[in-house]
Amino acid sequence: MLDPDRIEALRNQPQAPASHVIGGELRPASDGAVLEVISPIDGSLLTTVPKGTREDAEAAIAAARRAFDEGGWPEMAPAARKKILLKWADLIEANALELAVLGVRDNGTEIGMALKAEPMSAVATIRYYAEAIDKIGGEIAPTAPGNLGLVHKEPAGVVGAIVPWNFPLMIGAWKLGPALAAGCTVVLKPAETASLTLLRIAELALEAGLPAGVLNVVTGEGAVVGDAIARSMEVDVLVFTGSGATGRRLLEASAQSNMKRVYLELGGKSPNIVFADAPDLDEAVKVSANGIFRNSGQVCVAGSRLLVERSLHDAFIEKLSAFTETMKVGDPLDPAVSAGAVNSLRQLEQNLAFVEEARAQGRTIVTGGTRILQETGGYYMAPTIVTDVKPDDRIAREEVFGPVLAVLPFDTEDEAVAIANGTDYGLAAAVWTGNLSRAHRMIRRIRAGVVHVNTYGGSDLTVPLGGVKQSGNGHDKSLHAFEKYLDLKTAWIKL
Ligand code: ADP
Repeated sequence: MLDPDRIEALRNQPQAPASHVIGGELRPASDGAVLEVISPIDGSLLTTVPKGTREDAEAAIAAARRAFDEGGWPEMAPAARKKILLKWADLIEANALELAVLGVRDNGTEIGMALKAEPMSAVATIRYYAEAIDKIGGEIAPTAPGNLGLVHKEPAGVVGAIVPWNFPLMIGAWKLGPALAAGCTVVLKPAETASLTLLRIAELALEAGLPAGVLNVVTGEGAVVGDAIARSMEVDVLVFTGSGATGRRLLEASAQSNMKRVYLELGGKSPNIVFADAPDLDEAVKVSANGIFRNSGQVCVAGSRLLVERSLHDAFIEKLSAFTETMKVGDPLDPAVSAGAVNSLRQLEQNLAFVEEARAQGRTIVTGGTRILQETGGYYMAPTIVTDVKPDDRIAREEVFGPVLAVLPFDTEDEAVAIANGTDYGLAAAVWTGNLSRAHRMIRRIRAGVVHVNTYGGSDLTVPLGGVKQSGNGHDKSLHAFEKYLDLKTAWIKL
């Protein structure tokens, strides 16, 4: 599907100014303001999106409320909702390469990953939840014979979804698939620097027959549009993927408004732990490098801390830096590239600041550490490996969200666990070992939502994704995702 000629034809296709999707209509911002969309590929102006106002957010919420309360979507037979959602997935699939290229021009992810992880992942996710919704039912409680206890599962209402820029379609679909299948209506706010593909799939949803107001997309600034959604008295559930700082604000906004339920998928500082008895070191090297450097490290589950058993440390780092230097960084629309652009200049500067701080602390920059390809006008950073890192360093505790790997040696299993669990985060982890007992011990001892063994990433839709500690709460993916969008209601009947 990665036809280079087709990609080249799409690369420069002019993009008309984009519009919000509110109540089934395409609309500009209420005051006509726009945000410029700068392509991280070369720093050029790609198009504009509406710079939404509070009134825009409120109009979208009112449309979603009407569609929920009066529009019939929650009352529709699950099989009928399924039919519309499957049609929507088909339309996204039919436009997959166009969507992938548009998304890459907007956010910089390398095209090979973008096609799979963005439109095609959204297609799979929407199909999964559409197919599931007419196969899950309520319960009859095991009561005494004189009573009947029925447990209904009801759509939870209007969902506000606020999503980030690294994988807008994948993460957007993780929220939209189960929410819409469950019968909820949605107001979605994309990130400022990655809105275009979500606006486009909302248009495709209308084409597929999704009733007006069931899915609304409002673009603009987090502090305006996102805040209006978070503070709304009409939004029942708020789902979010993004930074811890914003997650904290959303919890406050909920407490200060209608106490809407808030589900957060926040960042990570995920430990990738390599024991000297790892079964296949070459595989561990390759997968560890990809686990931090693909999409320039802009992956919430990225393995950003590498813990290596001391006896293996030097040999492993030598192999890892040799492999890393073979990774091609650059134009994300070149199918041979393994890491594309950093999403924005702001993000690139943050990444470089982390590296400079480590350098000033006397840590060793084994490879990378610099901005590259500046002559293109785009935002590129060399994959960076930092060794001699101490567990208390900022680079070992805070999420960089860039192609920066912090390496820490350890001597014992206990020490590996202590370092692994020694941050505020608990999203993902990996353990490389040939010892089955050790693998299971580590799975139990590491506080994280997912622990990989002898691999990193690559889990599919059938398993939940969520964090513990300050990595968040609630789960995307798997049938558990429905728990956020379906309320339990008890009927207690005396017979
Ligand atoms: P990052 O710093 O990586 O961009 P953010 O958490 O700021 O991560 O962004 C994730 C999403 O949260 C984006 O859609 C952004 O617009 C939104 N956002 C940012 N600030 C707020 C806020 N105060 N209220 C609601 N949403 C916000």
